[in-house]
Amino acid sequence: MKKAVFFDIDDTLLDTSNFAKSARKSAIRMMVDNGLPIPFDEAYSLLKEIISQKGSNYDKHFDVLTKTVLGEKNSMLIALGMITYHNIKFALLRPFPKTTDTLIYLKSKGYRLGVISNGLTIKQWEKLVRLNLHNFFDEVITSEEVGFEKPNKYIYDESLKRMDCEAENSIMIGNRLDTDCMGAINAGMSAILIDPQVTPEEIQRIEEDNLDIEIIKNISEIEDLL
Ligand SMILES: [Mg+2]
Repeated sequence: MKKAVFFDIDDTLLDTSNFAKSARKSAIRMMVDNGLPIPFDEAYSLLKEIISQKGSNYDKHFDVLTKTVLGEKNSMLIALGMITYHNIKFALLRPFPKTTDTLIYLKSKGYRLGVISNGLTIKQWEKLVRLNLHNFFDEVITSEEVGFEKPNKYIYDESLKRMDCEAENSIMIGNRLDTDCMGAINAGMSAILIDPQVTPEEIQRIEEDNLDIEIIKNISEIEDLL
């Protein structure tokens, strides 16, 4: 019987949130130093507000920022912001420690490996390729492709079908209890929650409902479980 392990990408294979934060701060610093006429803290708060309004996959955050501050778009500042953002992000981008070792270990144990990720297909592939992890995965399934986001059961059903595996032989690994783990449990899979900041409430919920979810602090602990 084929056994499958599925991974989430963001904040599971790489520290997406922190990379994005550092990159945004550097971009704002560059824009302020080059003439955006408001203090750094104010500009950074404004950018965060624009991102939460427009979503992180919107590609014109800096356009909106300059328009809001100056009353019109400023192409030089937008270009400076975008270039700085991308340069910093790609300079920092790397998997969490031991990620590659863990994937090699799972392959050696005969598991088929997949990705189930909420996001835009090309953007998520871009991360896997830049991290040099893309060759480990037999299937990469995104919410954009499938039309449903985790925790919707359908994205798990579709992933299992593509991987040609049964739910009871499959495990989902991710950093969010609700999004990654509960969706997998509802689809009949088991789950591993990688969360260094797991809350007592989350632990209690897993224990009380007797959920088939293991909690670990980092990806290297997978070797102790699988
Ligand atoms: Mg995640």
